[in-house]
Amino acid sequence: MRAPLRPLLLALAVLGACGLAQTSAAQPVQVAPGQLPPGAVQPVAPGTRPAPAPPTLTLTPAIPEVRSVQYLGNGFIEVAHAVLTVEPAQRGRLRPLVQEVARRVLAARPELSEVDLSVYDRGAYASFGGPLPVLTASVPRRRLDDFTAWAGGTGAYERVWVNPGTMSATRAPDQVRETGPRPAAGRESALEARARNQGGVLDGLLYRGRFRSLQVAALTFDDAPHPLYEPLLLDLLRRSGVKATFFVIGRNAAAYPFFIHDLAAQGHEIGNHTYHHVRLPPLTPAEVTQELQLTNRTLQALTGQPVRYFRPPGGDYTPQTLDAARALGLTTVFWTDDPADFANPGDAVVESRLTSRLRPGGIVLLHDNAPEMLDVLQGFLRVARQRGYTLTTLGGLPK
Ligand SMILES: [Zn+2]
Repeated sequence: MRAPLRPLLLALAVLGACGLAQTSAAQPVQVAPGQLPPGAVQPVAPGTRPAPAPPTLTLTPAIPEVRSVQYLGNGFIEVAHAVLTVEPAQRGRLRPLVQEVARRVLAARPELSEVDLSVYDRGAYASFGGPLPVLTASVPRRRLDDFTAWAGGTGAYERVWVNPGTMSATRAPDQVRETGPRPAAGRESALEARARNQGGVLDGLLYRGRFRSLQVAALTFDDAPHPLYEPLLLDLLRRSGVKATFFVIGRNAAAYPFFIHDLAAQGHEIGNHTYHHVRLPPLTPAEVTQELQLTNRTLQALTGQPVRYFRPPGGDYTPQTLDAARALGLTTVFWTDDPADFANPGDAVVESRLTSRLRPGGIVLLHDNAPEMLDVLQGFLRVARQRGYTLTTLGGLPK
């Protein structure tokens, strides 16, 4: 599929941004509060064809709180993500537990460069998209001693987050409407058509770069950050010397702040992808503003930088969505190239879509948490370089 043609275009239901919307468009998921199926609220790239589950590590002897330890590689490094669930009574003494898990996971698989941990309240746990963890941490192997010192109360460690229990939120996860039926296609306004045709930023809209003659295209990743994929993707981009724009889900930025620091430190651009990764058209204007504002505040507090760009989940918007973004000074960003990496069509398909659609001024849409994105990214960046393209952030795109 090529670029989106108009707002709320139903074709996006077939190959739209953010996999879950795509899947559930065909089979709406009925979700009872507190009983979310895995990935029900936030996309974990399930697609039309489920992604193969990453391999898992088994700790022997088992640690009862450990629910799963998945690991994945990017051809250079491997990262593991351990999910733990705990009882409320354990929350005051999590440090020795997470230290033991980090140490045991790294010992169990010497190839691992890093283990990330997400500790959830056992009674509330409902996958990555459910209620937020009570504690998260990122432990590169070379930082294990620092993490151990923190766990023992004798040192500071910055790659850890403890849920303060006072998180601002505008809605409970079971109220997020990404799983509902998609809205009907609307008509493209004259302004939207003009912005699409001429390129560049026009009244807060950006469909593509302005100058077709320059071989510059923007590389964007939606749905960041994810504790298994983020270090792998950042590692690949660092090796390639490429900067990109990440559209971040506010609640996950809050829960994994160290990854937002990593993104900023590596020179990537950070955009707003709503706080709850919610489908925006059914929301009231006040709710939309709240989604955008809460995310802006979260990101600005973490990076000290104002947020310039916004991408609506699924590419779904209404004129009111655009107004809310404009009022906050955000440019709403679309894309010219969506290879549907979230739908897991196969590495060869994703790669050939990416390379065949590369255009000057293009905006490439990939997903932070799609395994096939990880598989093909290096090859795509190589082809782009060979063709004389510079891939960069939206800020670096001629507009
Ligand atoms: Zn998304």
